[in-house]
Amino acid sequence: MEQNFKDILDNMLEAVYVTDRDRRIVYWNRRAEDLTGFMKEEVIGRVCSENILGHVDRSGVPLCKGDCPLSETMADGKPRETMVFLHHKDGFRRPVRVRTSPLIDSSGNITGGIEVFEDAMGYLALEEKIQLLESLALLDPLTRIGNRRYLEEQLEEKFKEFQISGLSLGLLFFDIDHFKRVNDTWGHVVGDRVLTVVASTLKHSLRIYDVLGRWGGEEFLLLLPNLREGALEEVSDRLRQMVSASDIFLEKSAEPLHVTVSGGATLARLGETPQKALERADALLYESKAAGRNCITFG
Ligand code: GH3
Ligand code: MG
Ligand code: MG
Repeated sequence: MEQNFKDILDNMLEAVYVTDRDRRIVYWNRRAEDLTGFMKEEVIGRVCSENILGHVDRSGVPLCKGDCPLSETMADGKPRETMVFLHHKDGFRRPVRVRTSPLIDSSGNITGGIEVFEDAMGYLALEEKIQLLESLALLDPLTRIGNRRYLEEQLEEKFKEFQISGLSLGLLFFDIDHFKRVNDTWGHVVGDRVLTVVASTLKHSLRIYDVLGRWGGEEFLLLLPNLREGALEEVSDRLRQMVSASDIFLEKSAEPLHVTVSGGATLARLGETPQKALERADALLYESKAAGRNCITFG
């Protein structure tokens, strides 16, 4: 039975660790390894403030020596929920939502603490998220949305969540139509403006936990978790229309410029690799190009 509980904790979507009263780590699950980069062999037996997690608040103030939510929970027995930035083994800061609860034995004594944490990138305000991506070198400097590396990381992450939870995950590839013509007619600087406007249009139409990035050139990838039936079609087509309805004003021209995008949209399938789903979305995008552009193909 005990082994069963351990398997459940090991396979949880959220990261979990357990400490004794002295905050010495006695349990560390697989998701905690993913989110922090620290393997359980590296942390079990150590005190969590010993340069491992190094939680800081939004202003960068360390919590370990002062208002550590886990210590406070162990002191008064009350659960807490807060957002902190933990320290990843590779040196960067990662925003996480933290919930702490006391570990209580059969006689009612508090014998330790449990901390459950999950990635909170999605909960950050847009501006805060941009700053964090920039500090992690995951921001595309021109469009100020996530770059290719960010997308690759998120793809792995969202796929893992999808395979465990079974909640849907939509992939949507967009490519600007006849973009070469924009560059050839108006020049590269205008081309860059167009990329920025399209990225902003997409960025402002998303839910907080959706992922958007620039895959390369004039291609954008969106990851849309937890969609209800039919929502992928609705969202994709709404975004396509938002782009085609944007007016891009140029100094060189009295008339605003308009561009359109073509898209390929698909739902991730259980058991497949992220690459497989990505290839499918890419192939669907090319069907939209062949069908005359400014449309989305689903499959
Ligand atoms: P299609 O409708 O088939 O997608 O045609 P297209 O012209 O958009 O496609 P193509 O792949 O031939 O052209 C993409 C162009 O995007 C070529 C490249 O010079 C331009 N491009 C890529 N990155 C940038 C960038 O950062 N800024 C600008 N201004 N242009 C870029
Ligand atoms: Mg194109
Ligand atoms: Mg292209």
